[in-house]
Amino acid sequence: MSVTPFAAPAQPQGCAVPSIERERGQRQVFCGLSGIVWLHRKIQDAFFLVVGSRTCAHLLQSAAGVMIFAEPRFATAILEDRDLAGMADCNQELDRVVAEVLERRPDIKMLFLVGSCPSEVIKLDLGKAAERLSRAHAGRVRVLDYSASGLETTFTQGEDACLHALVPHLPALPSMERSLLVVGTLPDIVEDQFKRLFNALEIEPVHFLPPRNAESLPPVGPGTSVLLAQPFLGETARALHKRGAALLHAPFPFGIEGTLAWLKAGAAAWGVAPERVEEVAAPAVARARLGLERQREHLAGKRISFLPDSQLEIPLARFLQRECGMELVEVATPFVDRQLMDAELALLAPETRLTEGQDLETQLDRLRAARPDLTVCGLGLANPLEAEGLRTKWSIELVFSPVHGFDQAGDLAELFVRPLLRNELLKV
Ligand code: SF4
Repeated sequence: MSVTPFAAPAQPQGCAVPSIERERGQRQVFCGLSGIVWLHRKIQDAFFLVVGSRTCAHLLQSAAGVMIFAEPRFATAILEDRDLAGMADCNQELDRVVAEVLERRPDIKMLFLVGSCPSEVIKLDLGKAAERLSRAHAGRVRVLDYSASGLETTFTQGEDACLHALVPHLPALPSMERSLLVVGTLPDIVEDQFKRLFNALEIEPVHFLPPRNAESLPPVGPGTSVLLAQPFLGETARALHKRGAALLHAPFPFGIEGTLAWLKAGAAAWGVAPERVEEVAAPAVARARLGLERQREHLAGKRISFLPDSQLEIPLARFLQRECGMELVEVATPFVDRQLMDAELALLAPETRLTEGQDLETQLDRLRAARPDLTVCGLGLANPLEAEGLRTKWSIELVFSPVHGFDQAGDLAELFVRPLLRNELLKV
């Protein structure tokens, strides 16, 4: 298997992959602020301060819900008209707000200044602000910045930008040492499952990015092998490569097939035979088969379309087609990063209709003509499509929920079953 530092993997001889149609036009996507919802749950001593507008504050609040019993670890520093008109010193205001947050929250060890469309439009330099605030609060908190604006991005790119901002701060892995680094936010329970499997394969040490707290930033260096747990982390992967890490090319760990292939890629880098992976994973695979069987009877033969939103579309389509027997009408995704996606493309049926980008009206016309049993799309399109009698699944739910690995394979399939069953109930 290929462990070349960030080169596209060689295609197996004669392996046909679907051709990709590219569309450009009006897009309907959510912005990267959504990533704060799962990132703040994962890094338990991090605070996310969005520098944005009231719209950003509303989006964040409705996406993350209002916490009543706990003080949230995210907030919005709202840019007022005076700031936008350049009449106030935004940096002074920002310093004051950060000092207030840190005084109230001694538990915070890492603070992210999160850029938005308004902060980008007025060209507020959050990088400089983060450096200044890091110096001012040295020894107390690390201040970093990233942009989650909705200008030309998709909602999962917020996580890529956040992890990318962490890479320069990762400690160096001592030379002559090696490690496996799993990159992408995973719920703790899933992380523990993967850790147990790698330990059983005698693959150690295994680190995770993002970490559970600011103190546990994983080391990186030429001895690091990177396994991506999410397909939308291209910039982070490239930054890790610049620090000497090698990317392992594998499908993503969704479903039995994806998880096995993903583990085997990690194992191969450690010289562990694929048969040993199958032996160690056998009990988990048997449980996953049982869980999937129940859901497969609802999904097999049903037709599904993906609209471009989360960048998870290709791996999920592969899982639904190969393990759940669904028929793929169209798989549209915002971007196809061939370096990360070739192992997935090789598993899709070559005749799959694969679209990169979006021209919203044309795409909706195709969807209305095809009328699939289920459409995976963003929140903004779900209700109008439901009103037209099309059943939908919110793509953002697939990022929030624990869906990676063997023990979650049945739950992942069930997320697609629910709207179909709801449809059956409505018919009664
Ligand atoms: S799209 Fe821009 S303005 Fe709207 S919520 Fe996201 S960052 Fe804020």
